[in-house]
Amino acid sequence: MNKPGYLKDAAQLGTFDMDLEQGVMELDERARRFFGINHRETVTYLKDFVPALHPDDREKITTIINNVFIKSVSNGNYDVAYRTVGIENQRIRWVRAKGKAYFNEQDKPVRFIGSVLDITEQKLDELRKNDFIAMVSHELKTPLTSLTAPIQVLNSKLKNSEDSFTSGALKNADKQLKKMGTMINGFLNISRLESGKIQIIKQEFLLDGLIREIVREAELTVSTHQIKFNPCLGVKVNADIDKIGSVISNLLSNAVKYSPKDTIIHVDCQVVDDYAQVSIRDEGIGINHNNKEKLFDRYYRVENTHTQHISGFGIGLYLSAEIINRHAGKIWVESEIGFGLTFYFNLPLNFNKILDAS
Ligand code: ADP
Repeated sequence: MNKPGYLKDAAQLGTFDMDLEQGVMELDERARRFFGINHRETVTYLKDFVPALHPDDREKITTIINNVFIKSVSNGNYDVAYRTVGIENQRIRWVRAKGKAYFNEQDKPVRFIGSVLDITEQKLDELRKNDFIAMVSHELKTPLTSLTAPIQVLNSKLKNSEDSFTSGALKNADKQLKKMGTMINGFLNISRLESGKIQIIKQEFLLDGLIREIVREAELTVSTHQIKFNPCLGVKVNADIDKIGSVISNLLSNAVKYSPKDTIIHVDCQVVDDYAQVSIRDEGIGINHNNKEKLFDRYYRVENTHTQHISGFGIGLYLSAEIINRHAGKIWVESEIGFGLTFYFNLPLNFNKILDAS
């Protein structure tokens, strides 16, 4: 075995090399094993690779690969984890694949090359941890739900009471219960997402209608900041309205959390190329360049003297990014430390995208 061969063997890596002009794939022995390919004939994307993907991951992975072949979308970068099902023995394996597509001078993809690693053990361990988080969140939710109803009833009974201490205490209890509910729901959503149980249910809706509703809701609870909304009239998207709503709420509540009192939060919606683009800008602490990419990682929180006393688990942005990715959109951030931060996300527009706004 030559040196690269030993290295591959030591790292337990399988490799693939796809000739996009001929539509054939070259897989080494290990990669063939991962995909359950036993025959010795030429491997093809459609006849061998796609059927070896787990049915629940098939659409997601083929969509990602299609994007890998569009230079302007992915720059050819490929980094995914998915399940394969051995065609012969039906064995389910988790693999991590990392690779790159190469383009010719006309930006046409010509070659797709990369490596695959068996991560089944690691993934099963992660899934067990997720199940645990889901179970704990469910258990915590039950007593919380039982507490919420009586507190709400007492709250409305004491609305006009003269006992300001009791009514104030109950109001606060209600607020804290809601806060706890949001945190627990965050964990529940994470475990649902990781076990593939979050489904995107698309429908057509007017984006600025949704944003307006969420801004209005936020204004009911936020008295510390002013929110200015610049709408995009008539822009329709085909997306999961509840999940996109939760992304906007999350970005808005981050803007409130991480910017000082009496500052302005600007919410903007516009059409840029073939996408509806939403931005949420605050005048807060901002982040430095190094944190930009990591911000969307699970459980990631920027640690500094400003954030030390702000509570959170680092899951909101991770969930938001997953939701936007599943809509074939993009989420990103622009910021300079001390000069506020702007979150952007975009969603592909429908064919008949802009209704007559008049
Ligand atoms: P959480 O706020 O619960 O910690 P998020 O996933 O929503 O979790 O955010 C991750 C981290 O990103 C935060 O801990 C914070 O450090 C940083 N961050 C998010 N939004 C902003 C913002 N508007 N300004 C500055 N930092 C932010």
